[in-house]
Amino acid sequence: MFSYRHAFHAGNHADVLKHLVLIHSVQYLQEKDGAIMLIDTHAGAGSYSLRDGYAVISQECHGGIDRLWKSPELDQPDFRAYREALSHFNPTDALDIYPGSPFILAHLLRPQDRLRLFELHPSDIGVLQKNIATLNKRSQIDVRQQDGFTLLKSLLPPPSRRGLILMDPSYELKSDYRAVESSLNDALERFATGTYLIWYPVLQRPESKQLIKRLHTLCEEFQRPWLRAELRIAHSVSEKRLQSSGVWVINPVWTLAPFLERTLPILQRVLGEDTGAAFDLETSSPT
Ligand code: SAM
Repeated sequence: MFSYRHAFHAGNHADVLKHLVLIHSVQYLQEKDGAIMLIDTHAGAGSYSLRDGYAVISQECHGGIDRLWKSPELDQPDFRAYREALSHFNPTDALDIYPGSPFILAHLLRPQDRLRLFELHPSDIGVLQKNIATLNKRSQIDVRQQDGFTLLKSLLPPPSRRGLILMDPSYELKSDYRAVESSLNDALERFATGTYLIWYPVLQRPESKQLIKRLHTLCEEFQRPWLRAELRIAHSVSEKRLQSSGVWVINPVWTLAPFLERTLPILQRVLGEDTGAAFDLETSSPT
């Protein structure tokens, strides 16, 4: 159950897509003053060294954030907030640290916002707690070694009725696919108006294909708007490494679709490795 360590994958193309969507969505919600509850059901270790340890073995960041970091495209306005988050944790020009979603969300917290983190891994929970303890905003952050799937509902609805939930499982267990669906079902019953961002790998396995159908059905049942964005960086028949991933967003902020219409072609160009590089963007209503 615990063979997955996000440190192997930190800063890869999937992190780039997911974190761009995350930052854009949070910043849009923060245009209003009301407090926001941010929930990360699968937090990981919080922050990762890209220059030693697991990241050096996998080198996945070379096909992700390292490419974007060196690209002039990072200077474009749509990438500014992502760049600022990265620079905050890398004060010199070198990109040595990749902030995971807990660090990115912590960076975005305003005084009135709160962040709730779930992480089950027996080693990563300790790393996450230590990492969060280094942050100035730690008093606004709660870290729990509990199952994010089952305990999400216990935090909903947030007192302010404003919230964004990131659900980012490793899909290490086949049962994760079903757990996403049942956890979201419980969550939407309590808090139908929250923004939910679900990350998923695009794989040939049936569970992966069925997940999208189930998310679609769930959104229809709850009559919620949705957005699906996928990015493929290469196309090889082998699935030895992840080549494509997506985000499904329930109640997306209205600026997210135009934002992705502008940024996905750039990501395809900068991160794409062969002619199989592609993106796909779909929404429940015309953009
Ligand atoms: N959200 C992180 C980011 O963007 O930086 C990456 C998270 S990683 C893909 C998934 C994490 O979920 C792993 O660290 C894994 O140990 C943890 N995990 C697996 N099952 C879990 C569960 N049921 N509840 C909470 N955490 C879980």
